[in-house]
Amino acid sequence: MTLMEILTRLARPRPNHSDALADTASYIGGLLRSWDIPFIVQQFPLRPHMHAIVGITCLALTALLLVLVVKRKWLPAVIAALAVPVLMLVEFELLVPTVSALFVKTGENIIVRFPVEGAARELIFCAHYDSKTEFLDHLQRTRLYQFLPLFFLLGILLGPLVLWGKRLGTSRGRIVQGVAVTLASLYMVYMSLVALNFGGYVFPIGESSGAVDNGTAVTSLLGLAREMREGRVARGRSSVTIVFTAGEEVNFQGAIHYVDRYIRGVRSPVPRYCVNLELMAQGGDMIYWKRSGVFLRFRDADRSLAARMGDAWRTVSGRPMGTEDHSADDSVAFMAAGVPTVTVGFSGRPGPGMGGFHSPADSIGRVKAAQLPQAVATFRRFIESYGNR
Ligand SMILES: [Zn+2]
Repeated sequence: MTLMEILTRLARPRPNHSDALADTASYIGGLLRSWDIPFIVQQFPLRPHMHAIVGITCLALTALLLVLVVKRKWLPAVIAALAVPVLMLVEFELLVPTVSALFVKTGENIIVRFPVEGAARELIFCAHYDSKTEFLDHLQRTRLYQFLPLFFLLGILLGPLVLWGKRLGTSRGRIVQGVAVTLASLYMVYMSLVALNFGGYVFPIGESSGAVDNGTAVTSLLGLAREMREGRVARGRSSVTIVFTAGEEVNFQGAIHYVDRYIRGVRSPVPRYCVNLELMAQGGDMIYWKRSGVFLRFRDADRSLAARMGDAWRTVSGRPMGTEDHSADDSVAFMAAGVPTVTVGFSGRPGPGMGGFHSPADSIGRVKAAQLPQAVATFRRFIESYGNR
């Protein structure tokens, strides 16, 4: 079975809330079984509607804020305004479930281990197999979300503004109150757009088949697993672990559960390193993202892993590896646990670059088939670069 045949089967919508997610997991498991590759399945509580539930809650809170501003209840308005960023930070930055835990299903990570005797290190390769559809792609949503801090601050200042209007009384006070109501309405319009992007998949819109994000990455790691099983990768003293995660598109839930179960608090006799894969095998050169994070905290990619991968890519392709600034992906979970990590992918340039994901534009037509074996060869080269040290 060729890599493109595998990818063609994978490249269909498989969002976390759908049955296609479990179907994809069983397809991956079936392939591994057919190649006689042992694997384990880690089940975890998956909150597939996390973004939609948080988005609707934040929208309800801004609606409440508007009502409180209209009614000139300044202190409750401050509390309602504070609740919005607190909820977003607790869910998305601190990764603590609150309202998103309203709806839970079972998610599955698929874990393949190739241990070696007397290992000097563990190399973990990670790729998510879920997909996502949003109204806005990666680039457009960044443009929308960049105003979040501004609106959070504005919302909190509305209470004091109402109080000021009350103190002024009469005509000037009415103008200040009018400004407060206008700004509260604007905030609500803005939050409607955010909520629409968070939860818009509930409407029947064209779905992303997640070919490049992240079918190609899963395919590359399946190809790597097959080569290792066939003894075509000289692993030296590197144990290799391959993790296929669910829940990446809902704030890295699968990776977080993998890290919680197998890394945090689990003493390893050897250092662990993680290579996370995103957006493989579109056009352009291999790149790595310099930083990973969600809102506040961004952590640096491990430069020595990136350099090692860059050398491997140059050997395979004859071209240098490029960079992108930052991303939000499974690497966040590994970095938070102190594992040196790098996320690698393809630039997509010339072409759509980082645009067009989470939409029907991410289809099999976007994949550059020749990049798939190149990616596998690069990862093999990366593993072999450690030699017998
Ligand atoms: Zn992705």
